[in-house]
Amino acid sequence: MKKDLIEKWKKANVRSEKTYKKIVKNLFEKKNKKIFKKVGEVQDQVFKEMSCMDCANCCKSIPPQLLKSDVKRLSKHLGLSKKQFEKEYTTIDDDGDLVFKTSPCVFLQDDNACSIYEFRPEACREYPHTEQSIFKDGKEWHAINAIYCPAVYNVLERMNTLLNNK
Ligand code: SF4
Ligand code: SF4
Repeated sequence: MKKDLIEKWKKANVRSEKTYKKIVKNLFEKKNKKIFKKVGEVQDQVFKEMSCMDCANCCKSIPPQLLKSDVKRLSKHLGLSKKQFEKEYTTIDDDGDLVFKTSPCVFLQDDNACSIYEFRPEACREYPHTEQSIFKDGKEWHAINAIYCPAVYNVLERMNTLLNNK
């Protein structure tokens, strides 16, 4: 029943961003180092129980930031100049970052597959930052991501249970 965790997230009384910020802060405390090291294991288990192909909420709701290297790779793949690519597909967001201008993403297909998967932006490759090696990179984003991403929600809820039961 791979969709159970996504259904759980949809039906859950997802806690506030403030509450998830507290959980993340707690996780990064020195005294919780041993528990922090279990993030990778917990995320592996969560992704065994659910699939992004049943969700795609990030592709539907969070335009990824685009690096210069993404623009170079994607424009080449699409047979456009960098300027043409930027004009057709991108905009500058409120933080001054270059992002795709449409949400849901224009490259998201009806079956939730990405039509440019091999060439997708770095931000899409790293999202949702729950792998042990990059969990720290997403420190500022995990709390808000718990509200948009069932994987982050489930990882943080499970990590919180570990913290409470230590
Ligand atoms: S990364 Fe999160 S939001 Fe994106 S498809 Fe996977 S579970 Fe859904
Ligand atoms: S480029 Fe692909 S992975 Fe990235 S948001 Fe668009 S559909 Fe999703």
